[in-house]
Amino acid sequence: MSSIADNIGSVTRRIQKATLQAGRAPGSVNLLAVSKTRSPEELHAAVKAGQTAFGENYLQEALDKMQALSSVNGIEWHFIGPIQSNKTRQIAEAFAWVHSVDRLKIARRLSEQRPGEQPPLNICLQVNVNNEASKSGCRLEALDELVAAIGELPNLRLRGLMAIPDPGQSEADLRLSFRKLASTLSTLRQNHPESGPLDTLSMGMSGDLETAIAEGSTWVRVGTAVFGDRPAKHSQS
Ligand SMILES: *Cc1c(COP(=O)(O)O)cnc(C)c1O
Repeated sequence: MSSIADNIGSVTRRIQKATLQAGRAPGSVNLLAVSKTRSPEELHAAVKAGQTAFGENYLQEALDKMQALSSVNGIEWHFIGPIQSNKTRQIAEAFAWVHSVDRLKIARRLSEQRPGEQPPLNICLQVNVNNEASKSGCRLEALDELVAAIGELPNLRLRGLMAIPDPGQSEADLRLSFRKLASTLSTLRQNHPESGPLDTLSMGMSGDLETAIAEGSTWVRVGTAVFGDRPAKHSQS
């Protein structure tokens, strides 16, 4: 048995246990396997172990893997990296979900460029939940206007919010960051019932998925706990 299959088994058990402990419905938390820097063979091993959703950060790398895995059915591709506006067309064409939309210009382009024969593109707004100067993601104060405007775009389905909280925080502060994202989502859902289902919280990674699930995560984005340690950071975008 491959160790990727073992890892998926143990991550799945962690998710189930945390879901149960939080008193949430079984199956309400999805596993996004974050596959940046991983080879098509590693993804294929994960697919054979039952994994369907994969998150990629770098467009060209993702397109190469889609090509390599084009004969494998049932993969759902999620884009989770920073988005340059000259890359939106390929993202709109190739992915089912984008977790990292952080401004209206990008949302407009994704909606315009989503092919008509495909279902609307599922998107999350990436939020700079700790309002750190250095971080990507929109500010909490900008969300209200952004959600109202995105609600008008025909080819997007606004699913919710994503955050990558500052990993240097204490566990208590991290929990508060997740909680803030969850309460922000429920306020937006009340104030903008027309803007989309707003049913999704993309938060939690290998090291903090239990805390994120306790605070309402519906997608945990897990890389190293599924595939092992990543090789040194690469710079492709
Ligand atoms: C790499 C990455 C992850 C996964 O991180 P791990 O600590 O390896 O689980 C999750 N989300 C985003 C946006 C990432 O870039």
